[in-house]
This record gives sequence, C-alpha cells and structure tokens, in this order.
Amino acid sequence: MSAVRCRFAPAPSGSIHVGNARSALFSWLYARGRGGTFILRIEDTDASRVSQAAVGGVLDDLRWLGLDWDEGPEVGGPHGPYRQSERLGIYRDAVDRLLADGRAYRCYCTPEELEERRRAALERGEPPGYDGRCRELTKADVARFEAEGRPAAVRFRMPEGPWVVEDLVKGTVRFGPGQLRDFVLLRSDGTPVFLLAVAVDDLLMGITHVVRGDDLLASAPRNAAVIEALGGVPPAYAHLPLVLGPDGRPLSKRHGSTSVEAFREQGYLPEALVNYLALLGWSKDDHTTFMDREELVASFDLERVSSNPAVFDVEKLTWMNTHYIQQLGDDELAARCLRFLTGAGLSVDPLTLRAAMPLVRERMRTLAEAPGLLRFLFTDDVVPDERAATVIAKAPEGYLKAAAEALDDLEGWDATSIAAALDALAAGAGLGRTKGWQPVRAAVTGSTVSPPLPESLELLGRARTVARLRAVS
Ligand code: GLU
Repeated sequence: MSAVRCRFAPAPSGSIHVGNARSALFSWLYARGRGGTFILRIEDTDASRVSQAAVGGVLDDLRWLGLDWDEGPEVGGPHGPYRQSERLGIYRDAVDRLLADGRAYRCYCTPEELEERRRAALERGEPPGYDGRCRELTKADVARFEAEGRPAAVRFRMPEGPWVVEDLVKGTVRFGPGQLRDFVLLRSDGTPVFLLAVAVDDLLMGITHVVRGDDLLASAPRNAAVIEALGGVPPAYAHLPLVLGPDGRPLSKRHGSTSVEAFREQGYLPEALVNYLALLGWSKDDHTTFMDREELVASFDLERVSSNPAVFDVEKLTWMNTHYIQQLGDDELAARCLRFLTGAGLSVDPLTLRAAMPLVRERMRTLAEAPGLLRFLFTDDVVPDERAATVIAKAPEGYLKAAAEALDDLEGWDATSIAAALDALAAGAGLGRTKGWQPVRAAVTGSTVSPPLPESLELLGRARTVARLRAVS
C-alpha cells in the first residue's frame, strides 16, 4: 500500500447530502487510484444530536454508493476508535500537551464578556473575534479566577499570520493579519471543539490528503496550526467548491431532493449517481461522460477538479440513469426493480418479472417507474385510469367483446399471433393499429401507456387477458 491516506469525516445527521457524498467520492477515488487507504471517521462529539440511526444512515449510503472504507466503524483499524465521541481522552491529552508547551492557554472570559467585547469591536469598526485577553494572564490573575471558581475554556494560541494554505483545488489561499484569532479547543465543560478533534485525528490517523467542502476552507490554517503545534506535518488540503442548485444558491431542500437516500428511493442507480457526482466539478477530459467505477478510479485526479461551484442538474442525472438502466442485464435489472414493486404492494412472480425486462427497459428512466409500467402483470385489481376509461367508453360497440373472443379462440399464445389477431380485429372495425389496439391496452393494463401490447398480453397469459376484456365489455 502506498502512503496515501484519505478520509471522509461526516457529522452524521441521517442520509448524506449529495454535496458531502461528492466529497466522500472524491476522497475515495483519490485513495483508490493510488493504492491508498480510505478511512471513515464519525464526527459525533456533539453527541446530543447524533443518534445511532443517523450513523447507520451514513454507513448505508456509503455502502449503497460502493464507497468501501478500509478503516472505520464496523471494520476497525489500527487508529481507532473511529467515532470521535469515543476519543475524548485522546483530545484531552492533546490539549494537556499544548498547555504544557505554551501553545494553548486557559481562557476565563465568560460568554457575556465575550459578547460585550464583540459588540464593542463592531462599533469601533474592528473585526469581531477573540481579542486575546487571556493570552498573557499573570499567575495572580489565574489564581484569582480559579478562586472565584470561574470555568475555563482552553484556547489555542494561533501563531502570527499571515497564513497560507496551498490548496490542491483552490491554489494558494492567504489569510490576512487579524483574520484568524485564538480559538477554543476545549469548552469549559471539557468537551472538544471540532477544530481540535479534526486536527488531532488527522494527525494521529496519518491522513495525507484532506478532501472536503470549501465551507471548511478557513478551518484549514487552524487545523494545520494545531497539527504543527503537536509536532506533526499537516496533510495536503483539497477544498471542493460548493454544489449549487439551478438558481445558483447552495443546493438545499428548496431545490428538491438533496440526500443520497432520496435519490435511492426515487430509483436512481448508484452507478449513475456515482458517475454523475464525479462530474460535479471534475472531468476526465473534454468529452468523456460515462465512466464506470474502474475508469473513474484510474483517471481521477484532484488536479482536474474545478475551483468553480458546480450546478446540480437532476435532468442530466436522470439522463445518465436511463443510460445505466440500459447497461444492466435482465436478471440484474429485475432484481433492482423488485424492491420498488413489492414496495408498491405487488406480489411479484420472478420469472414473469425477468421476462418483462426487455419490454420495459427502454421506457424506464428510474427504477421507481417499474410499478407503473408493470403493475398490470402482478395484480388483477386493474381499474382503468381516467384516460383508459375514456378510451374504453369510446370503443366501437362490441369491440372489446370481439377482442375477448378472438383472443380466446387463438390457437397459439405468442406475441406474433396476438398481434395478428389484434390487427385483424382493428381492420374489421376500420381502424388502424394505433387506434385499434388502444381499447384493448386500456382494458387489460388499465392505462393508455404500457409496454408493447402483444408481448405484454403474452406474458399476462390468455386467461387473465380474456377475463379483463370480458369484465369491461
Ligand atoms: N465533520 C465535518 C462535516 O461534516 C467535516 C470535517 C472535515 O472534513 O474536516 O462537515
């Protein structure tokens, strides 16, 4: 194994937002393409918010996307535990070292004092942020505060700026003097702050490349400073630009679905979502769209990640999904449709389902469309929808009865004979194929749109076909 070690470090709140899924994917692709290690770390120090179900949602999403992890929850590894809530002692040890080395200090400022000084700074037209009040407390000050029983947070002594991050995506990012103040590592109740936990874990877990959203760009110099203060070498950082909705605002609920789970439930294939997410801000070249997992792993590089925000286009995802549905074999497509059909309350005969795949594959944009297309095969409770009812009502007198007779009398029961019988019936009524077949389709499938009719009837079987025609004639 090469030395590359990447991680995905979600703060779980259920299913993963597709923007974060893209961070996970890019991190995974970078590790996999270099024979490296991909680590999953659960950032749940704010334990009150993080339920077991929320963590389970993250693991399910990653598995469904096929982003396997070499170290992390459920698989373990040499740098565990991989849940931050189980690493509190580790963070406190790190803080003790920073305090002992003078790289951190106790801060006795109360929230009220901080707020007051923040407001005063704003009034003076100065940037808010910690003013360093407790940086150089005398022993006497400390003794007095301790005697008062004042709670103390621990603050990091941010080294003098300017600070520079050589970001693999953003390029050289500079933070000017005064931009990064001393920040809290440990709250007065002893709980670690995100900036501490991330730095300590990236250091101890030997992370070489941090790939994450650019909302965390300003954390990078802080993370790096803590790692250096602990005697380590910071990882390389790659901050990915935001994922936007079509209106140019960050992708959120107001744009519709945003979670991996939502896309799964809507019948998108993980192959399609992975391929689509890979192209959100990255490209192999100027013409390649469809890439399977192997090709993505082989060609992905952080250097080709764009530093501009990417717009999430669900139409394109759907178009790609249609492509991936065409690529699946009949057995595989049937297996993937099954959950959607049973979820719609249908009792599915596996052989019929498999045989129906060639009929519906080209009509399906998502797996969730399977129940609508195939319902008539797996239930006899077929009530014509509004359009179908109109078509049935407008059929020539006796037409459907004649259809029932003709099909009942048919010698063989195969699509070719069925088509011939339907054509003869239509011609007898002076109708063409389109108009002539439509009442039969409406009566048998309950809909005016269905998979190819003769093949559908062949699959449905003579008895059920004839019974449905008789029921409406
Ligand atoms: N836990 C952070 C989040 O979910 C990510 C931290 C990181 O990647 O450094 O936003």
